[in-house]
Amino acid sequence: MDGVTVVVSPLLALMYDQVMALKNNGVKAEMISSMQNEEEIATIRQRLLDSDIKLLYVAPERFASFEFINFLKSLKLNFFVIDEAHCVSEWGHEFRVDYRKLNLLRENFPSTSIAAFTATATPKVAEDIIHALTLENPVEIRGKVFRKNLHISVEPREKDGRTQLLEFLKNFKNESGIVYAFSRKQTEAVAVFLHTNGIKARAFHAGLPSHVKENTFKAFVRDEIQVVVATIAFGMGIDKSNIRFVVHMNLPKTIENYYQEIGRAGRDGLDSDVLLLYSGSDVVMQREFIEQLDESPYKQNAFNKIEQMSRYATMEECRHHFIASYFEDEIENCKTACDNCTEVQGEKTDITVDAQKFLSAVYRTNQSFGQAYVIDVLRGSSVQKILDNGHDKLSVYAIGAEKSKTYWERISERLMELGALKRGEFRSLVLDNVGMRILKNDLKVSIKEERLHIKAKKEFVVHKDEDVDSEVFEKLRALRAQIAKEENKPAYIIFGDKTLKEMAKLLPKNKEAMLHVSGVGEVKFERYGEQFLELLQSIN
Ligand SMILES: [Zn+2]
Repeated sequence: MDGVTVVVSPLLALMYDQVMALKNNGVKAEMISSMQNEEEIATIRQRLLDSDIKLLYVAPERFASFEFINFLKSLKLNFFVIDEAHCVSEWGHEFRVDYRKLNLLRENFPSTSIAAFTATATPKVAEDIIHALTLENPVEIRGKVFRKNLHISVEPREKDGRTQLLEFLKNFKNESGIVYAFSRKQTEAVAVFLHTNGIKARAFHAGLPSHVKENTFKAFVRDEIQVVVATIAFGMGIDKSNIRFVVHMNLPKTIENYYQEIGRAGRDGLDSDVLLLYSGSDVVMQREFIEQLDESPYKQNAFNKIEQMSRYATMEECRHHFIASYFEDEIENCKTACDNCTEVQGEKTDITVDAQKFLSAVYRTNQSFGQAYVIDVLRGSSVQKILDNGHDKLSVYAIGAEKSKTYWERISERLMELGALKRGEFRSLVLDNVGMRILKNDLKVSIKEERLHIKAKKEFVVHKDEDVDSEVFEKLRALRAQIAKEENKPAYIIFGDKTLKEMAKLLPKNKEAMLHVSGVGEVKFERYGEQFLELLQSIN
């Protein structure tokens, strides 16, 4: 196909990365951005006019310039690609005002096709994208929301979670990963903590000077440091394919954020592990933030999103299934790739009677109060509000006095997960169908025994390809790191982990065998083949 394809991308770092990877594979790709000077841009423009470029990357801001639009009109365009298209939608989680300008595309290029891509769009966001880009009768394709090489674990956080983090990281010697923390201060503290424990880690957040951020980013993609401890400012569109783990030290705000962040692991398709550490206090803190916002549909939306996230953290069913349902996709339980499916299920305790007590307390107080109030009634508290409402006269008053507040919170949590309770106006608890059936003794309720107690420390089981000689793999990695440094390029752009593992497994000794390794084409072989062959020949 001759002509040029224009790719709109939200981040300079992302564009830069992708253009470099394409060039390294022999594809004629360039970007036009604020990073380049006038002369460089003029050269690229001339090459575009000469049909010497196949893929052109630009930021959405470019479309504010009519001069630029007119320039594009003088080219033979194949189509437009909008990357990270959820940025168009205010219902998405990363709205960008500049993306709204993309409605100019349809107007100015009525006969050029537009393709929009995103990994995190609910049907509502998808609809918004179609509307904002003024697409007419578009073909909508949805992939399965299921990354089966991601092994998901969720654990209640013990204190600041650092001991758990260290325990988890023991499984990833020299392998890359991202740790997400809640605040800037926390990213720095965790990075220092890891460093003093012998792990090459650096902090990354929006408040750091740009040269520091740039250095950290480069060191990470070249495998010179192992871990980046970051706020969400890090990682959007990062294309490093050999990220083996992602850890969240706190509960993310939304399932969209979470899914996007864990999706940065295992881009090469190899097994990777993701761990979420959460605590009930995360939810309280997030709620307090949202509480301070002005009343708006966005505010209610934010409450709903954090509630879904909290439900995800505490649930006992398949986590991949939950994520898929959230994006309105239907998949089977993963059976092999989440803790709830794979762990030997601990003892379950029947809590039907206590669930009924809780639900009837909700019912008797007219489904108008929040969780804390309902628990107070159950435990026979004499706070003024209960006395004023006459709720101390109810049959449910004090019927749960012998159990702790935390105990009842867990019961409430479980009922929410099961859809027995939902939130009504002003955070009140309201009975749903399932709740009615439990009250009528039509359904039994159980909970993992351990959730009612403080958990014992556990060992993490991670997932790795055992078939590979790790010594050979390490040697190949070292060579890759050396080339990355010499060429000033991310390591995975030279060869991905998947390719190196295959090399370590097949031990190719000549060009022909080397070309059978996935990820080694003629162009790559031309560049790096001999060096790797030499190393492989020296082994044995
Ligand atoms: Zn599962």
